[in-house]
Amino acid sequence: MRVYNFSAGPSMLPLEVLQKAGAELTDAGGTGQSVMELSHRSKDFKPIIERTEALLREVLGLPPHYKVLFLQGGASLQFAMVPINLAASDAAGAPGASGPTACYVDTGVWASKAAAEGAKYCRAEVRASSKDRNYTYIPAAPAPAPGDAFYHITLNNTITGTMWDSIPDTGAVPLAADVSSCILSEPLDVSRFGLLYAGAQKNLGPAGLTLVIIREDLIGRAPAWAPAMLRYDIHAAEGSMYNTPPCWCIYMTGLVLEWAAALGGLPALAERNKKKAALLYGYLEKSRLFRSPVEKPYRSLMNVPFLVNESDADKRKAIETRFLSEAAAAGLVNLAGHRLVGGLRASIYNAMPLEGVAALVNFAEAFEKNV
Ligand SMILES: *Cc1c(COP(=O)(O)O)cnc(C)c1O
Repeated sequence: MRVYNFSAGPSMLPLEVLQKAGAELTDAGGTGQSVMELSHRSKDFKPIIERTEALLREVLGLPPHYKVLFLQGGASLQFAMVPINLAASDAAGAPGASGPTACYVDTGVWASKAAAEGAKYCRAEVRASSKDRNYTYIPAAPAPAPGDAFYHITLNNTITGTMWDSIPDTGAVPLAADVSSCILSEPLDVSRFGLLYAGAQKNLGPAGLTLVIIREDLIGRAPAWAPAMLRYDIHAAEGSMYNTPPCWCIYMTGLVLEWAAALGGLPALAERNKKKAALLYGYLEKSRLFRSPVEKPYRSLMNVPFLVNESDADKRKAIETRFLSEAAAAGLVNLAGHRLVGGLRASIYNAMPLEGVAALVNFAEAFEKNV
């Protein structure tokens, strides 16, 4: 039996996509081979990667002067690649006082990891943070400083369940955003950004692929010491084939994009996602047992943490444990909060149908009556 999987990542994939991949598993397009067995340089794989890129450009509405890179290493490697490629000085090693600056906004665990990694290569300055209230809101966007090499934000904060309600205006300073947990969830004006990156395992496909979308004029700024594998210019010049790309993940992402396009693209996905989120947040508003810790204007469309209203820590823990085990028995799995923050969390990415969220709300309503 398929369950409703509320995991933050790797997360649910659309059933239609899994079935199509299954049907083609041992014979992709009449090759007599699985996509996993195809040479990445073969005439059989070329149309697969080209189709994934074309679908991504179509679904996201990518302007032509942006390059798409299919990389590995997760969003976490981008925490280093962004500063190395956009802000590192020619001398390797930690930047001196004269190194280039970059503006970071600290909106949670991933954002602060990005800043800590950035500080190894440039003068990464955290100019705003929402840590004072446990990352339950998005702080006012600081103005960029004139010499900043880039400005970094985490558009959707997977762990604490906040998202930016508007894109900061950074003027001539390129805006770099971690969109791992919100890419494809609603329309996005890519022209406002210099660079976007996302680990695939939330809303795009299987773990193992990292997507980078970069404005062409930002390519070619890496210092000579940067390892070849960490240079956007090399990956761009080689069409993401400097070395073996994650072929299977690129194929699966193509199937997910095909599914997204058939549903009506980002406007249709946004409508679906807003319905799902409204149902869940609406329930949390009226529940006496659970509540959302996140301030209303900043509530994520994709990740919905919720807390048990019980001040005694042991009793709270017992209610959470019972909730998780009874939910799992009812086919609603992976509802625990992130290990760093605790509580409960439902991630409701694109592949989660409205019926899954309705099943969760019905379950929680019944559970609440028996506590
Ligand atoms: C999951 C996640 C990450 C970490 O991604 P990896 O691909 O595991 O490195 C980083 N940022 C955000 C916003 C995430 O949701």
